[in-house]
Amino acid sequence: MSKHVIEDAKRCLQCKSPMCSKGCPIDTPIRDAIHLLLESKIPETVSNKACLLC
Ligand code: SF4
Repeated sequence: MSKHVIEDAKRCLQCKSPMCSKGCPIDTPIRDAIHLLLESKIPETVSNKACLLC
């Protein structure tokens, strides 16, 4: 995992009404994914930059 991905994830405010998910064409729960990433609960196979922070 790239260091800058983690640093960017730490900037997330965990908004109550996240605009990030509303803008995602496949309805990825981005806020929740970021939370899981920071908790190290996402397997490395799905935690690449392309799927989380496209
Ligand atoms: S990534 Fe989503 S939840 Fe996090 S600060 Fe941005 S809009 Fe809010």
